[in-house]
Amino acid sequence: MQNLQYAADRLQQVRHRIAQAEQCAGRTPDSVRLIGASKKQTAELLKAFCQNGLSDLGENYLQEALDKKEELTGFSVNWHFIGAIQSNKTALIARNFDWVHSVDRQKIARRLAEQFTSTEVLPKLNILLQINLDNEDTKAGITAQSIRPTLESIQGFSNIDCRGFMLIPAPRDSALEQRKIFATARSLLEDTNQEFGLQMDSLSMGMSNDLEAAIAEGSTMIRIGTDLFGARPAS
Ligand SMILES: *Cc1c(COP(=O)(O)O)cnc(C)c1O
Repeated sequence: MQNLQYAADRLQQVRHRIAQAEQCAGRTPDSVRLIGASKKQTAELLKAFCQNGLSDLGENYLQEALDKKEELTGFSVNWHFIGAIQSNKTALIARNFDWVHSVDRQKIARRLAEQFTSTEVLPKLNILLQINLDNEDTKAGITAQSIRPTLESIQGFSNIDCRGFMLIPAPRDSALEQRKIFATARSLLEDTNQEFGLQMDSLSMGMSNDLEAAIAEGSTMIRIGTDLFGARPAS
């Protein structure tokens, strides 16, 4: 019971922030999908959020996610994988998630695509290319120059659908600087669509402290952890 009230309050607060940001940006209400970034949170707590209408969960660690999926059997959840991907885990990830946001190198895109045989009738796996626009060598992600070979490497695989980009920018000092990097991602998506004749429609960008900037620049999915669920329990 306690959890239910807590979840209702938290959800209402975050949804209010999203609605305001949508309105400020002149965007259609409910055009941004809220994904609960639920790493380290207990299945018990997540159930309370799902009972209050949260329909999307993003997990970073495969085994933890599979355990939670089992505990949340019976709840209608869209599962998103948002963590670092080891290439020997691509089969399990492809078969257990609706979306994979963190495709951060060509090899992973290709391996996810190859998991399905052409005769299998399954819902398509939605993937997003995690783009590195900060050009830091230490950061995970596909650089702007590597988008083309990555898309080409998964052409012809019918069970995988590249829906757009995901971004985790380095922290910025001001809202203006935050907006700049998100705007760059959006125009890169538009340019890529034009060049390849695609209709990619998704931008996964925006977390607790920059969701307003992300929504102003066209984000379609935001990933909120702490501001939604509270601090993560120490592991
Ligand atoms: C943890 C995480 C988030 C959410 O971060 P918070 O600061 O807790 O809101 C978003 N995206 C990714 C990829 C994450 O790993």
